Amino acid sequence: MACLPIPYRDELVFSVIARYGVYSLSLSSKLLLEDVFRSKTVVASVALPNHLQQIAAHYQHNPQLTAERLLRKHTLYPLYSPFVHPDIAKRAKSNMLFGCESSAELQLGKAASIVKSPLFLKYCPQCLAVQLDVHNEWYWHRLWQTPGVMSCPLHGALLNSKVYVHSNQKHVFSPLNPVNVQTAIAQRISKNHQRLSKHVQTLLDAPEVHIHPKQWSSFYRTVAHTLGLHRGKHIDHQGLSCLLNTYWGKSFLTQLGLNIDNNVESNWLRTLFRKHRKSFSYLQHILVWQACFEEHLDPIALLNDVAKDVYAEDLSRQTALPTQSIDQDKREQWQQAVVEFGVKGARNNGFSGLYIWLYRYDRDWLLSFNQSYTQQRTKQLDKVDWHERDLIYVKQFIKLRNAIELNLQAPRLTKNWYFLQSNISLSQIKHLKKLPLCKLFLNKFCETIEEYQCRRIAVACIFCDQHHQNYRHWHIQRLARLSKDRIRPLTAELLGCVVSNVSSG
Ligand SMILES: [Zn+2]
Repeated sequence: MACLPIPYRDELVFSVIARYGVYSLSLSSKLLLEDVFRSKTVVASVALPNHLQQIAAHYQHNPQLTAERLLRKHTLYPLYSPFVHPDIAKRAKSNMLFGCESSAELQLGKAASIVKSPLFLKYCPQCLAVQLDVHNEWYWHRLWQTPGVMSCPLHGALLNSKVYVHSNQKHVFSPLNPVNVQTAIAQRISKNHQRLSKHVQTLLDAPEVHIHPKQWSSFYRTVAHTLGLHRGKHIDHQGLSCLLNTYWGKSFLTQLGLNIDNNVESNWLRTLFRKHRKSFSYLQHILVWQACFEEHLDPIALLNDVAKDVYAEDLSRQTALPTQSIDQDKREQWQQAVVEFGVKGARNNGFSGLYIWLYRYDRDWLLSFNQSYTQQRTKQLDKVDWHERDLIYVKQFIKLRNAIELNLQAPRLTKNWYFLQSNISLSQIKHLKKLPLCKLFLNKFCETIEEYQCRRIAVACIFCDQHHQNYRHWHIQRLARLSKDRIRPLTAELLGCVVSNVSSG
């Protein structure tokens, strides 16, 4: 019987065995395996180790350290089980407990996932200081090793150690010690990443639930509908990808292997919002939840709701969802957001999570508030003297036009430009039907892209003349800041004319 150390909170099984190797002065990894597993072929898996029953046996029936508890508290299994078919989760769990040949990584989809696994084991330098203070030694925390988590929820950015997650020496359990860490400066971490790591920790600690792929399909269909990202029965996939890209940034998604290519019909985000025919990584789920629900995300409540089939009802039915509740603060937050951005605008300006929460728990109030606000707003708009407003605006536009007419260096004169320069809210653009003079003016004087490009060509030619330079195609194009890809046919024609006329003349 090996005298394995008691695992610390959230310590990986991998780390416990590595520490045992240090304590027992094991001369080689094979001897360590023999000592703990009575086998020399056990693979040192960081995330999803097998043979937990055998490890628990060393603790001699300690009820706090059963194989089941090791699985839930000291591996990454809790991040995988809610997101695969319940039958697969059960099989993988049994393999991890009793140790058999097939790998849990394959069964739970980790090995085949498009999510890029971290190359090195990670650590939080500030947590190491605390560990040393409290325990007099260091250990590998399981949260640090989860793909997508960039920071410690208490401190800052995680750093890469020198230990490979998938090392060539697959039977070696490497301890966290000064030899394995490196000195590096931790980068600043955004609030969203900090929040992500807290949510992942919550998922790791969550009680086990089993969720069928059908339940996930219903959940995502409801999310798209409540966010208004659908047209009839069709989901607005472009809108969803825009939401994700804006919230997380394209480079972060690409870094994880989760970039969203709208030209690919089967990109991962589209398939997540369609009928679930395969499972997705916990990271794909949680990135979408956080972008949709923002600070209102409660991963445990969400998992419980999905498992209870709360979302499986027909969306066209307006029956009340269970568990109604009233939160006065949330109602007031929504009211303020609507006053500022309007009902639709609020959802696109950081309040979609609040909207979903209210839709889920306080739907009657939400719908009636939105309706009365819209009616009141329409009445207010009807009271406006549009003719007078039309005259005021158009005079401002004319004044602006007169002032800028001879300035060839001016930016492109667009609708937005005229409104912004006149200090008129852009929201007025949608009322152009009621502002006929403004409409006429803008139709006549706003510049198209072609017109703007031609103006830039003219400015470039003037520059060449003033500096006694020859008209060369590439030179004018460069002066006019026009790339081959962006140049419009009409502009290209003008450029061709200018160059050929000058060279033939
Ligand atoms: Zn930390």
